Amino acid sequence: MAVATPRSAALLAQKLQQDGIRNAKVLDAIAQIPRHLFVELVLAHKAYENTALPIGQGQTISQPYIVARMTELLLEPLDIEGWKPQKVLEIGTGSGYQTAILARLFSQICTVERIKTLQFQAKRRLQQLDLHNVSMKHGDGWLGWATKAPFDCIIVTAAPTQVPEALLQQLADGGRLVIPVGSQEQVLRVYTRNGEEFSQKDVEAVRFVPLVPGELA
Ligand code: SAH
Repeated sequence: MAVATPRSAALLAQKLQQDGIRNAKVLDAIAQIPRHLFVELVLAHKAYENTALPIGQGQTISQPYIVARMTELLLEPLDIEGWKPQKVLEIGTGSGYQTAILARLFSQICTVERIKTLQFQAKRRLQQLDLHNVSMKHGDGWLGWATKAPFDCIIVTAAPTQVPEALLQQLADGGRLVIPVGSQEQVLRVYTRNGEEFSQKDVEAVRFVPLVPGELA
């Protein structure tokens, strides 16, 4: 990797393990990605704390615990023989930190962001880290990314009031969608596709910025 990762990233991974993150690959990715590059310089000293931070445009870089937890849920083993998720869709690129974690763990990442300036910054950061397995789109995440579908996994890092139908339809058979749903009260939900059936499981209460409908910024 072109940029050195400070030891504080490894300490953050240790902290997340104590907080209940079990997947060793996820913890390793947290220890390898320099989160300070994903926030403004004035906030860099807080980058390895387990907190969400502002990234401009009224948006936030998610709390590391929730990044790790959602990634762990995507990787949870399924009872399908030979199931190895490769292609992942992320909605809400934001700073690009969650994207970078995904890029270390899956072979192909597609990510959609509605605010162009955030998308540009994220693109530069991923290039700086030599992560080249990411396709980016400036668009409305409610619609997913139809021309790249189907996806083995979909992760949404902003909260819609209801699950967008397009995202369920863009899941591969056996695929998994991890998404916060709700407005004031939000819950992290996992959908799994089995043919035309979708099973769902609520995991824990969460707090995300809203998944804004329509209009691009
Ligand atoms: N994973 C990001 C989270 C950023 S916050 C990180 O850790 O940095 C959520 C992001 O979702 C914001 O950047 C916001 O602009 C974006 N977003 C909100 N509504 C959206 C929509 N309809 N389509 C695409 N992106 C959206």
